[in-house]
Amino acid sequence: MSYTKQILRVNLTAGTCSAEPLNMEWATQYLGQRGLATKYLAAEIDPACDPLGPDNKLIFATGPLTGTPAATGGRYSVITKGPLTGAIACSNSGGYFGAELKFAGWDMVIFEGRSATPVYLLIEDGLATLLDASALWGKTVWETEETIKGRHQDPQLRVASIGRAGESGVLFAAIVNDLHRAAGRSGVGAVMGSKNLKAVAVRGTRTDAYAVADPDGFFKAVNAAKAVLAGNGVTGQGLPAYGTQVLMNVINEVGALPTRNGTGVQFEGARAISGEAMHEPRATDGKPNLINHNGCFGCTIACGRISKMDPGHFSIKDKPQYRGASGGVEYEAAWALGAACGVNDLEALTYVNFLCNEDGVDPITLGSTIGAAMELFELGLITREEAGLELPFGSAPALVQLAELTVRNEGFGAVIGLGSKRLCAKYGRPELSMSVKGLEFPAYDGRALQGMGLEYATSNRGACHVRGYMVSPEVLGIPVKMDPAATEGKAPMLKAFQDLTAVVDSAGICLFTTFAWSADDIQSQLQPALGGDWPVSRLMEAGERIWNLERQFNLAAGLTAKDDTLPPRMLTEGAKTGPYQGKVTQLDKMMPEYYQVRGWSPEGVPTAETAGRLGL
Ligand code: SF4
Repeated sequence: MSYTKQILRVNLTAGTCSAEPLNMEWATQYLGQRGLATKYLAAEIDPACDPLGPDNKLIFATGPLTGTPAATGGRYSVITKGPLTGAIACSNSGGYFGAELKFAGWDMVIFEGRSATPVYLLIEDGLATLLDASALWGKTVWETEETIKGRHQDPQLRVASIGRAGESGVLFAAIVNDLHRAAGRSGVGAVMGSKNLKAVAVRGTRTDAYAVADPDGFFKAVNAAKAVLAGNGVTGQGLPAYGTQVLMNVINEVGALPTRNGTGVQFEGARAISGEAMHEPRATDGKPNLINHNGCFGCTIACGRISKMDPGHFSIKDKPQYRGASGGVEYEAAWALGAACGVNDLEALTYVNFLCNEDGVDPITLGSTIGAAMELFELGLITREEAGLELPFGSAPALVQLAELTVRNEGFGAVIGLGSKRLCAKYGRPELSMSVKGLEFPAYDGRALQGMGLEYATSNRGACHVRGYMVSPEVLGIPVKMDPAATEGKAPMLKAFQDLTAVVDSAGICLFTTFAWSADDIQSQLQPALGGDWPVSRLMEAGERIWNLERQFNLAAGLTAKDDTLPPRMLTEGAKTGPYQGKVTQLDKMMPEYYQVRGWSPEGVPTAETAGRLGL
């Protein structure tokens, strides 16, 4: 069994920390991390509660492979009710924090209540202490991590914290660990801030914290799976060389790159902000943006980007603190801050990405919301006087200035900090928010990729690309090539992807492994780690159970089938260019079949038969 079998419960209202045994019956049904923490959350909170009130809980959870030698086995997730959506929120991060939590002897930390004053949690193996964070309040993520390590004289502490955005109620605030790895989406940092919890610092030294059931079988399977990653073109070459940015030109070519708030599907500036461009010498100083790549705990892919900006760029000319190397743009951030805003200045995108890491903000929602504001400005609905600046599409200075205001929740940044749904509603054009359930789209257009459109509409946490990545079959041909324009077969394929992704997110490994790993490769490692009998069919059923539990949480929170939709633009305005010109997302053709293969009623509710079969 690859669990520590211990949960740490922290009552922030009372200021207490206590240990309790992990519910192993639930662990066999929900695996760990995303699935198991959702089970705890659903059992312990009223799904209708205020996400930013003391009745919401915030759970940091590892999976059974977290901290093991399995490739990419360093993941943890943060699970809560999300403030942008009012739906289940689960945000996954890499780096080293998750593995350290496991080494300290904890599968999960549950935060409940709200502290009267700012605090941070220090975990040293089995010892957990809440400490005063008054002096840290107002500090950035980077300052917080440095200060905590210095205060405890332990450079090996792993720290996950919020910046000024999470403190001040930016609804898409992130939790950042290891300086530039983030539980980025869904506003989990805003929930952490609402609890007056500044940081969690952990140091784990227990090599006996957990044990896999069959060590020999496990190491054999892990080595074989690592060989699969190394031999695959995406995980062995593309991701290490270009990171996820390998996708920028590919997705632009197929006409699936949402541009200028979704008014277009191809960006003429895509090449300038691509992974290839990050490698090339800049015209200004002759040096490339990208200086290195790195990996999370146990990762043999190492897709992380390390960038260094042109010191003469307008954004940092007077800010020497940004001249060092730091986390560079991934594909989603480059798209949201770039194509979605019509900005083709790679250095400006890098600077804003640094800001997002430094102050804990989701760059996808930030870029999408600024893109929506730019469209509202061009329509004359936001004025220069109101915003305090001109906001045309394509303006790098506007992007930079608005991002600076937003991470501090100041001026017009306080409006951007509400996300695009609330921004567009404020200006009387709710349909211009490119979001589902209040969470903004990632970097793929559902008019070109029908399966992605269905995925956005049905994803439990709002528009999401990591809840069943249909780009794999529709663009990359993994595991089979599907016609992006076709609607036939998309519903059952999406269900399989969603269920498998729930397994991956609950196991403690990175989703990027699935570019190379099949369900069999994952099963071959989980089986000896967990012990017992875990055929693929049982794992997939666990994934389906997790998906349906999340659905039930959302229904209890007040969401309905009406929320399983897309903005009118995706359903009525045909793509203007590209191979799928004229196409819209044909949700009406796919949704009935999706509900049917899910075993849900036409109203989108799991039937009694489905709930009974899954033990819900
Ligand atoms: S593939 Fe990338 S994100 Fe995933 S664990 Fe490795 S470095 Fe981290």
